[in-house]
Amino acid sequence: MDFNGEEPNIFEGISTAGTGNGAKVYLETYGCQMNVNDSEVVASILLANGYSITQEINEADIILINTCSIRENAETRVFGRIDLFGQVKKNKPSVIIGVLGCMAERLKDELLEKKKIVDLVVGPDAYRELPTLLRAAESGQKGVNIMLSADETYADISPVRLDKYGVSAFVSIMRGCNNMCSYCVVPYTRGAERSRDPQTIIHEVEELVRNGYREVTLLGQNVNSYSWSESKGMVKHTVNFADLLEMVALVSPFLRVRFSTSHPKDLTNDVLYTMAMYENICNHIHLPVQSGSDRILQLMNRKYSRNSYLNRIQAVREIIPDCAISTDIIAGFCTETELDHDLTLSLMREVGFDFAYMFKYSQRPNTKAARHLVDDVPDEIKSRRLTEIIELQGKLSEESKKKDVGKRFEVLVEGTSKKSDDFYVGRTTHNKVVVFPKEASSIGDFVLVEVTSCTPATLIGKIVDE
Ligand code: SF4
Repeated sequence: MDFNGEEPNIFEGISTAGTGNGAKVYLETYGCQMNVNDSEVVASILLANGYSITQEINEADIILINTCSIRENAETRVFGRIDLFGQVKKNKPSVIIGVLGCMAERLKDELLEKKKIVDLVVGPDAYRELPTLLRAAESGQKGVNIMLSADETYADISPVRLDKYGVSAFVSIMRGCNNMCSYCVVPYTRGAERSRDPQTIIHEVEELVRNGYREVTLLGQNVNSYSWSESKGMVKHTVNFADLLEMVALVSPFLRVRFSTSHPKDLTNDVLYTMAMYENICNHIHLPVQSGSDRILQLMNRKYSRNSYLNRIQAVREIIPDCAISTDIIAGFCTETELDHDLTLSLMREVGFDFAYMFKYSQRPNTKAARHLVDDVPDEIKSRRLTEIIELQGKLSEESKKKDVGKRFEVLVEGTSKKSDDFYVGRTTHNKVVVFPKEASSIGDFVLVEVTSCTPATLIGKIVDE
């Protein structure tokens, strides 16, 4: 899985009337893209039940925080936010405070016992119950549901879109994970893997296209294990991820298609051939490696070796020669030696990743690693190794960007640059961010941009004619 940083996403102000009597909900989201999409589902459920959404915490009747448990500092940050919500509640005691998502699932008792101000604790599979739980909270009870489901995919719910420009949307294709990587809390907080009916996915994508969206990202903890089976009479029909990818690509040639996240053990050549076949499927794969050492990969229960990972990279290079590859790396996992660390650095050099999310190992309670392995790499060593990994990736990312200078790319205009109103920001098929003067283009356009220079994080260019 991958992460979209530590900054929260806050919903824009939108509202409808109905049985929630227009009560105003402030919704803050932490963690991965799946969480962002879950918040869109939550907003949809609340709006359908007559609640309204506000961006202003001080005018909220209900404050919800959708949480992430992937690392300790993510949880610490959320606890800090809950304390701040407590200040809001001091001034307005009727405010209901709810914790949603992975922390609700993992820390229900702690939240209810230590954070008395929390009125609502709702796990990732119980969002349909939110209106009922909110009514319980409104009547002074604690609203709690952390039941995990074997089949909930929210397939019939049309998420309210978070992207304020209406250009790029996340579409959840599956939930949960069966992989049981030893360091990971996701199988415990999000339950077992369930794939969503492909027809509901296609309907959602078609609706997005009708509403002017130009890009979708298909989301799942491990999209390559997507599998949907249906029996018609004696015939069983199965849709795998390569099939689904093709179905989505065929919705419109003007819709860019991305997906995240791929597990290296499940990335098939069929998926790569489908990517190569359709121009509108972006040339970018996020393939988390985590470590370059076989011994560590085994302790992590990743179910692939260094060699088999490199074989997958070779397959990507052969089938889609112009494909960007990004990854996730963990520094300082249990028992990691200098040799293991050097193997990670050498693998990074060998692949030449275009981008990476890099973290220090953070032990998560009740995971297999927490139960059976010792978190024995001292923090200063973890930090030093992480610094070395970040420095190396900085060089690799810069090399990757420098190769783009002088080239032309089709860029989807996604919004105005945060640094200047005179510039737009967009991405290439390789998922690289490009900044360029606005000129005659508009948000949602595909434009041809010539890259003139780059910073370590961004390409800089100008719009050119064909
Ligand atoms: S168990 Fe492994 S594959 Fe599943 S979400 Fe966690 S890290 Fe990703």
